[in-house]
Amino acid sequence: MSGKSDIHILVLDDEPFMLKLMAKLLTNLGFSNVATCDNGQMALRWVDEATQPPHLILCDLNMPGMDGVEFVRKLVEHRYAGSLILVSGEDERTLQSARKLVQAHHITVLGSLHKPVSPHALSTLIENWVPTMRAAQRLPRNAYGPERLSQAIRQGELLNFYQPKVSVATAELVGVETLVRWHHPEDGLVYPDQFIGVAEAHGLIDALTEVVMVQALRDAATWSQQGLTLKVAVNVSMNNLIALEFPEMVTAHAIASGVTPQSIVLEITESQLMQDLRAPLEILTRLRMRRFRLSIDDFGTGHSSLAQLRDVPFDELKIDQSFVHGAHSNETTRAIFFASLHLAKELGMEVVAEGVEDRADWDFLQDTGCDLAQGYYIARPMPAADLPAWMVAWSGRQDVQRTRRLERVESVKPLVLVVDDDEFQHKIAEKILGHDHYQLAFAFGGDEALRFLIREPADIVLMDMQMPGLDGLEITRRLKAMPLLAHIPILMMSGASEQRMVAQCLQAGAADFVVKPLDRLTLATKVALWTGLAASVRKPSTGGREHESPG
Ligand code: C2E
Ligand code: MG
Ligand code: MG
Repeated sequence: MSGKSDIHILVLDDEPFMLKLMAKLLTNLGFSNVATCDNGQMALRWVDEATQPPHLILCDLNMPGMDGVEFVRKLVEHRYAGSLILVSGEDERTLQSARKLVQAHHITVLGSLHKPVSPHALSTLIENWVPTMRAAQRLPRNAYGPERLSQAIRQGELLNFYQPKVSVATAELVGVETLVRWHHPEDGLVYPDQFIGVAEAHGLIDALTEVVMVQALRDAATWSQQGLTLKVAVNVSMNNLIALEFPEMVTAHAIASGVTPQSIVLEITESQLMQDLRAPLEILTRLRMRRFRLSIDDFGTGHSSLAQLRDVPFDELKIDQSFVHGAHSNETTRAIFFASLHLAKELGMEVVAEGVEDRADWDFLQDTGCDLAQGYYIARPMPAADLPAWMVAWSGRQDVQRTRRLERVESVKPLVLVVDDDEFQHKIAEKILGHDHYQLAFAFGGDEALRFLIREPADIVLMDMQMPGLDGLEITRRLKAMPLLAHIPILMMSGASEQRMVAQCLQAGAADFVVKPLDRLTLATKVALWTGLAASVRKPSTGGREHESPG
């Protein structure tokens, strides 16, 4: 496709004035191939007989004779493959239900326009559509056969993308959902809706799920080595839950990768009605007993979601995107959203909102009590290698940080992060430093500390040297290797104070060293010094006690 002039548009409306107006608006937007019809019969003939059938139809809903709804049904019979925009003077709910009806016929609806049509609304709808339409034209919607797919699975052409799931309350990255892509040598990136069904229908879904799972666990293990412990979710088809060996496959790969079952989430969607639920129930129960986390996906759209909730011990419920996006401004959607949320909470489940597409969706979630959010507003699905860069960008996003930063902007108190596996040490540090001059935050280990700092770069870190898992030296080295966090001074705390140890700390990149048990004066002085607050703290009466054990 070279340009807009290659795109064919048909306008259907019974009012000649509207036809002229729309044609003019479209021409102004740069579309030169615009045809007009004033009744449905004529439009259908055009669809059938034009040398180039329209890529887009703008259709009036209210017409004498064949109305818009009937026209759409006929379009399906005439195998129309293009997109549609609905135009009407009806109220929003009528337009919406008409839109749903059209979608149910599997016709792509770009949106609906109220009469009188504003040029701006029209151009927004169309300008968003043109690029996807061009891409779609470049990549013919291939029907992939099972042989080719099987080969792709064996030859490693399937590739995992990951989409972040973040905490609504803190914006912290909590986990990722694995979304498979097919890196097709000729067709480029192919999306799962074009091959999961083929895999399910031709007995390839077990092999597919296994390669996706292995890759996901390998990536999770790598993140974990980098200090990033994430829950990793993998989509599981109902067809996977027929083979009784499925739990063994999952367990074996979990063990081999070293990722704990608690960090593995299995997202289950019921896409078709299951005749016999005995095998799935047995498999899910077994997985749950092995501590894998079970998630019910696309909640609200399945065939028997409520029955599933009753029968299967799910840990997580994902509210389908159709009840999340736009819930702030649509009463019906919002009612379904809250009903699902309350139900899940009542059953003690974690709730994920899918399809958080814009700022309004994100803001809406803030006061709802929903646990996690996922969607384009936060991040598009991405290759594993892009995750670190996304994390840095996300932590710096002003719109998201706004709420949590407010507190800090208002107070100019330096933020001190205390990292120690022993909560008692948190209390000691808190007692010594107090809340008058500092804002204090606490972490129990390296992973937690790193995640906190990515979100909220502290002004100083008090770091325990000996901790299980990532120890203080290792976290320090990692922090110093992160361009955006390397400047944070690290004050190492340790029970031992040999020269060799101090040297090790400094070598790792620590700014200073204090011994435990913590001495009030030494700690207060050093923290004040390093946070540039020295002036407001009393001068110590004894100096140079840093490396000695008090008492
Ligand atoms: P899902 O599990 O519900 O995954 C979410 C889908 O919504 C993904 O589409 C994702 O890209 C898309 N999405 C994410 N955020 C937004 C948003 O803000 N707005 C909108 N409109 N969409 C958003 P994707 O990757 O095309 O996957 C489609 C479906 O294919 C998935 O739905 C899942 O059911 C299935 N699928 C994907 N990977 C696998 C797999 O490895 N195995 C199986 N069995 N199914 C998979
Ligand atoms: Mg899913
Ligand atoms: Mg979903």
